[in-house]
Amino acid sequence: MPKPPTKSARTKEERRRGARKKYANTPIQGKEFNYVLQLNDEDTRLLNRYQDILAQGAAGFAETTYNYLFDNPDIADVMYAYERSGGNIGELVRGMLEHKLSLLDGDIDEKATNRSEQVGREYYRLGVKPVWSLGAYRLFMEHLRRLATTDPQIADEDRDALESALIKMIFRDMAVMTEAYWRTAVEQITEQRDELGVEQGLAGEILGHIPQMLWTVDIESNQITYASPGTRVFNNDELEAPIPCFYSIHSSERERVLTAWQQVIDGQAAQLEIRLAPDGETDRWFRMAFYPAANRRGRVLRVHCLMEDITEAHSDRERLEQLSTQDEVTGLANRTLWYDRLSSALAVARRNPGASVAVMVLDINQFKMYNDSLGHEAGDELLRQISVRLQKVVRDTDTLARLGGDEFGIVLPLLQDAERAVERVAGEIINALSAPFTYQQKDLCLSSAIGISVYPQHGEDATTLASHADSAMYRSKWNAAPYLFYESEASASSASEHLQFSGQLHGALEREEFELFYQPKVDLDTDRICGAEALLRWQHPQQGLVLPKQFIPVAEQLGMITPITDWVLDTALEQSKHWSADGSSMPISVNVSARSFRAPGLVAGVRQSLLKAGLDGSCLEIEITEGTLMVDLDEGARILESLSELGVSIAIDDFGTGYSSLSYLKRLPIDVLKIDQSFLESMDSNPKDAAIVRSIIELGHNLECKVIAEGVEDEVVRLQLKALGCDLVQGFHISKPLPDAGFREWLSQATNQPPHMQ
Ligand code: C2E
Ligand code: MG
Ligand code: MG
Repeated sequence: MPKPPTKSARTKEERRRGARKKYANTPIQGKEFNYVLQLNDEDTRLLNRYQDILAQGAAGFAETTYNYLFDNPDIADVMYAYERSGGNIGELVRGMLEHKLSLLDGDIDEKATNRSEQVGREYYRLGVKPVWSLGAYRLFMEHLRRLATTDPQIADEDRDALESALIKMIFRDMAVMTEAYWRTAVEQITEQRDELGVEQGLAGEILGHIPQMLWTVDIESNQITYASPGTRVFNNDELEAPIPCFYSIHSSERERVLTAWQQVIDGQAAQLEIRLAPDGETDRWFRMAFYPAANRRGRVLRVHCLMEDITEAHSDRERLEQLSTQDEVTGLANRTLWYDRLSSALAVARRNPGASVAVMVLDINQFKMYNDSLGHEAGDELLRQISVRLQKVVRDTDTLARLGGDEFGIVLPLLQDAERAVERVAGEIINALSAPFTYQQKDLCLSSAIGISVYPQHGEDATTLASHADSAMYRSKWNAAPYLFYESEASASSASEHLQFSGQLHGALEREEFELFYQPKVDLDTDRICGAEALLRWQHPQQGLVLPKQFIPVAEQLGMITPITDWVLDTALEQSKHWSADGSSMPISVNVSARSFRAPGLVAGVRQSLLKAGLDGSCLEIEITEGTLMVDLDEGARILESLSELGVSIAIDDFGTGYSSLSYLKRLPIDVLKIDQSFLESMDSNPKDAAIVRSIIELGHNLECKVIAEGVEDEVVRLQLKALGCDLVQGFHISKPLPDAGFREWLSQATNQPPHMQ
């Protein structure tokens, strides 16, 4: 259905016609002119009588007129413009002349009026000012007066009357033409005003509907000269200049608005986002824009202001930002944000000489197992519980993030004594994670591996420090150490060894490249040999003898450690059958790595090896580190119980370097504590180390364990240990680890003399 025409649908032409119609109602009245000029039939008759005489010399007059037009530069410009727009100046001047000559007809009817009126309209259209036409009239008048006063063909008694008639006719034409000129001008201006009015009406209509607030401020008077209906409604019609809602803006943001206002007054558009707290309503976000309107000299006269409610878009954006920087499961920072914070912390540290930044990467050891066996929901719940505990350990200034999977990252900025501080945090983390987690009434035990790198010692930039913390974390996993600092060479070599050995380890067992070395253990009271530790070596075809620290982590990573452990068990037990100290069989110790310890078949494998060798469980000792045990205490306790039931004794290796829960140790079937050799190194010079050794010995005895010190390299230490009540010693001072044949030889000599006397 066609729509009814609306105001705005009127065409330009329609509006023009409307405007003309208005003026057509009041036509120029020729009679009025005749009356005021007292033009009458006598004038017409007189003019008719002398018309031909007066028309003489028209050609010369035309030339004079032509010169007149082009002598005046302003008129000449108009003429040239007329010519440029396709007009013919010759014809124009001819037309003007014809019109002037037509006045000599003496016609004073409406037709003559229309002709004069037409000239006025035409002048307006061409841009010929009425004042210019006065000049042409003057020339015409002078020309006619000369004829009227001098031409002999005119009767003397008619001369005055004829001159008067001519003046009246010229006045009439000038007046009608000028009136028409102005009427055309008024017509046009009215038409334009109407058009503008319609457009303004339309703009008003649109502004009435738009939700944005729009207002204009006159700078000179500081008055609001325009305010959109939306602005009025929002401000309850109280329009305080220059920013009506200024006092609803959050006080903390007003300063920014004032700065933007100053900027716009200085001639530059300004835009900002601000928060408004309208009375009793919740905060809303607005985009505020100021646009300057300056004069040609650049002075800002007005400022147009636009305000738009962007609350929805703002909260969408905030949500998006959160999603892009936040981990969805735990609500912690994600890797991106963690990296950003690390970079910022480094930037601050660089400006503060002596400042450090510690980077920790933490991996949850049993996460995959729980996630796989209990499902992802359990996994997510565990991650959430872990993050809550970790959050309690870190300070507000630290950044704790979930980097992905079961990996967390911490940035500890501006630490003055970085290593101590970060060790303390690591200790607190281990403690925090040591209590069981709960999922559906089940207790789940977890442990972590932590890698640490510190700016500036371990790297200058975020990428390096993060990757170094990462490699330290992997090393701590391999070594079942609760945390480790980055070690440049160690990690570099371990990475390259990893690559180098990983291919060759496959098949090393089949190619019989492994060999066991044996190192004796000696009783400090009796000086008798009371056992030996089997230490694995790899006879690498190119590299020669490779030590276990170099390839065991790789074997663990490649999942090859269980068959290796089985081989060590079989070989060690088989060899031990052939030795005897004082004719009695001697127990052999075998090291079991974290991964082998937790592999499902360990206990069965041990039983199998004992059966194969035809030996009793008492002939075997299993050495595990504290870290191995702490990975999963409950599971660890179960395995130890089963081994203990086989009569196998249990030694805690490298004791004192890891984190042991003493209350747990008490409940475990542990037979031996092996004091780590690091405590012996400076025992004679450092009283603290001596105190630690003494406490370990006491602790071991309280737990009803034997205590052995490993890494004894000289007699002084041996005697010190003896004085402290240590039970056993092992170390280069007694014997280096030896291959089977060498060990047998050593044994036969040692049974003749106390080992330390050799
Ligand atoms: P560990 O069980 O603590 O073994 C002691 C290490 O200290 C041995 O290094 C030994 O050669 C060395 N050592 C002994 N006496 C002295 C001494 O007086 N001074 C010094 N500086 N060092 C001494 P090795 O043989 O290189 O073994 C290193 C580690 O590799 C072992 O530490 C053990 O954790 C692991 N390992 C050795 N054999 C096996 C194995 O068959 N299976 C597994 N899973 N790990 C093994
Ligand atoms: Mg050992
Ligand atoms: Mg050890």
